[in-house]
Amino acid sequence: MRMLPPDTVAGVEPVQSVQPVDTPVLVVGGGPAGLAAAAELSLHGIDCVVIEPRTAVSHRRPRAKTTSVRTMEHLRRWGVADQLRRAAPLAVEWSQRVTFCESLTGRRITDFDGAFGLTTRRSDLFAESGQQVPQPVVEDVLRTHLAGQPGVQLLLGLTVTGLEQDADVVRVSVSDSADAGYVVTARWVLGCDGAGGVVRDQIGSQYIGRSDPRPNFNVVFRAPDLDTHLGPAVQYWVVGGRATGLVGRLDLAGIWWAIMPGIGAEYGSAHASELITDLIGGPTAGLEVLATDPWTARLLVADSFGSGRVFLVGEADHVNPPWGGHGFNTSVGDAVNIAWKIAAVEHGWASPGLLATYEQERRGVVEQTVACAEANMLAMAGDLPADEAVIQRVKRAEFHSLGLVLGYSYAGSAAIKPGSGGLAGAGESFVIADTTTYTPTAEPGARLPHAWLPDGSSLYDRLGQGFTLLGSPDRAGRPGRLLEEARERGIPLTVFDPPAGYPWRDEFLLVRPDQHIAWRTTDPSSIDLDRVIGGRA
Ligand SMILES: Cc1cc2nc3c(=O)[nH]c(=O)nc-3n(C[C@H](O)[C@H](O)[C@H](O)COP(=O)(O)OP(=O)(O)OC[C@H]3O[C@@H](n4cnc5c(N)ncnc54)[C@H](O)[C@@H]3O)c2cc1C
Repeated sequence: MRMLPPDTVAGVEPVQSVQPVDTPVLVVGGGPAGLAAAAELSLHGIDCVVIEPRTAVSHRRPRAKTTSVRTMEHLRRWGVADQLRRAAPLAVEWSQRVTFCESLTGRRITDFDGAFGLTTRRSDLFAESGQQVPQPVVEDVLRTHLAGQPGVQLLLGLTVTGLEQDADVVRVSVSDSADAGYVVTARWVLGCDGAGGVVRDQIGSQYIGRSDPRPNFNVVFRAPDLDTHLGPAVQYWVVGGRATGLVGRLDLAGIWWAIMPGIGAEYGSAHASELITDLIGGPTAGLEVLATDPWTARLLVADSFGSGRVFLVGEADHVNPPWGGHGFNTSVGDAVNIAWKIAAVEHGWASPGLLATYEQERRGVVEQTVACAEANMLAMAGDLPADEAVIQRVKRAEFHSLGLVLGYSYAGSAAIKPGSGGLAGAGESFVIADTTTYTPTAEPGARLPHAWLPDGSSLYDRLGQGFTLLGSPDRAGRPGRLLEEARERGIPLTVFDPPAGYPWRDEFLLVRPDQHIAWRTTDPSSIDLDRVIGGRA
């Protein structure tokens, strides 16, 4: 039986003191965004320091449970997808279902199968299924991974208090729990310090948006004897009655979570057991409330994602309601985008101009994700009738969002072939037409359409760490000139011949380190290498 670990972290100790440190990249905050940024930098061989106040990860505050197909693909690139699946208390095989019911002991209203990208069957569309796993488990797996990376220093128990930058360097003030102060100097700073961090203010960026007026109340509880006749599901939505909300298992050893929209902190704290009993539909032996967590949904996007040598990543630049399960996944997407670019600049083969494409590429993704989460929030558990037809119509997009998760594009970016995706160029953002269904496309800016290879490996496993030219090296329009130019300029570029049957085999696709298509052509010599690396390095 898989159980959640206690509130400790294997392999990572809090620092006792920090000597003056100089690092290429300082990552402020070791939540999902910061840990992902460090993993991506480390993949590309760039040293970094991560500063995080929390010495241990709290398993009583689970927050995100949905790790998307796309985030799992990134974890696969870092070599930790299997570790995460082993650490996850609920295996994908256990359930891929969301169930709507009148209570855990009451009537089933309807189900959504294959929710959140969960599938036990291999799909050509992606290299990894989604995974339900509490966010603290993801953080533990990434902390342990980073502890084994020689170029990463994960400094726990420290807090960033301010920063200043000039043309060459950022000086970051850090304090420890005894209020002793230190200065860390870095060429680049990633502000991954969440909504309550300091970096956004320090660079003069501000959130634009609003908070939802309705409160929410989370409970983690132990219920050793609780089971349900409804069968396994990753979420049970209790609707249509006096008690409404979401319930799910955190592990298979009797620990559960619940989210109750509309319940305020004071009422929730005073009546937590009662509320849980109502969601269950009757008493259960040994019910014990382990933790409560009131929160408010917010819809915020920063007016600027960076300034000079400092960039905002994850919740530091956007906060969205959790409905649909995209907040942490979008944060990982941000982290990958900025981190490979910084690595390319640090290695000297990309121009610092490439970093300006971070906001161009991520702003549209972030804004559309916040808009989708807002749309999901219009029909919360308390707003829904116990009516199968209504629920299927209104909630489908929340549980089936592969179009949003995989179908986003960086078309319009200054580092992508111009005129792609129907966009004239920088300043325009790609908008996903269908956020529920993903249709592979090789339009520049899109995520490379996935394929399984005859030997059972993923096409993604065969891409280089730098750029990859997908296409036959022997065909007319051979890429010799492009390869020579890349070699002369130190731009890492490998060639991979996709398998027979790959729909774009008759063309050449230039694929970036983040698996997005930078260029599509029948003539590789027409590829503008300067453009895809942000200008001449
Ligand atoms: C109830 C709930 C359910 C959710 N469900 C989902 C879901 O299913 N799927 C999903 O994708 N998302 C979900 N989310 C959202 C998800 O939890 C966040 O989007 C995610 O945590 C953002 O990651 P982050 O690293 O950007 O920020 P954070 O997780 O906030 O991490 C920021 C880090 O910075 C550190 N920090 C703060 N200040 C400083 C400082 N001054 N110096 C140094 N470090 C600092 C903090 O200690 C923290 O570790 C949910 C959120 C809630 C509230």
